[in-house]
Amino acid sequence: MSSQIHEDVLPQLAAITIQPDRPLIITDADEVLFHFMEGLEVFLEQQDMFFDWSSFALHGNIRHKKDKEPVDKEQIPTLLNQFFEEHCHTLPAAPGAAEHLELLSKNAQIVVLSNVPPKFAGLRRESLRKNGMDFPLIANIGSKGQVVKHLAQGMKCPVFFIDDIPMNHSSVSKHANHVERVHFIADKRLASLLGPAEHSSVRLDSWPEIHDHIQFILNKGI
Ligand SMILES: [Mg+2]
Repeated sequence: MSSQIHEDVLPQLAAITIQPDRPLIITDADEVLFHFMEGLEVFLEQQDMFFDWSSFALHGNIRHKKDKEPVDKEQIPTLLNQFFEEHCHTLPAAPGAAEHLELLSKNAQIVVLSNVPPKFAGLRRESLRKNGMDFPLIANIGSKGQVVKHLAQGMKCPVFFIDDIPMNHSSVSKHANHVERVHFIADKRLASLLGPAEHSSVRLDSWPEIHDHIQFILNKGI
């Protein structure tokens, strides 16, 4: 996977104004602001499939009900596309996300950086709005490090990155190491399958904890 910013992401970055003198929080959406797995389980049930919860990965863990065999790797992208199309706008919000982002937004600017397929960005924006999280959304493609580096350039205040996927923390660590990286997995069952991401700064397990951690760092700077 290329670490360069995808050409479809560049115009989205150009459309966002970041203030260098206001802290910046860059947050993922699936399994951070929304319960992706809860929605996926409902969808899989409708397809006569299930998730077997043996590891933090979609490949190998999505199985057919009839024979318990894993769904072919090649089928997963089509399946996920259908999932986003049907469920992207109805995924339940993670408890506390909207309230704590609203509190944090008094002192910080917030950007949602999600790898939702770009054609469903409109549905995701609608869902963010509906759930009280009406913040700018970047529908990213590929790794996140260069995008975070771009957003954080010229910042005179702390920058935070929140994501559930370890690979994204590695990418941000590589390209924007000064960014405080919070590893958070909203789904408790999924969280129990994975320890702290190697390249994260801290692992936290709820939105109140994330709020307190960010606020503590911001208070230190005053
Ligand atoms: Mg995610």
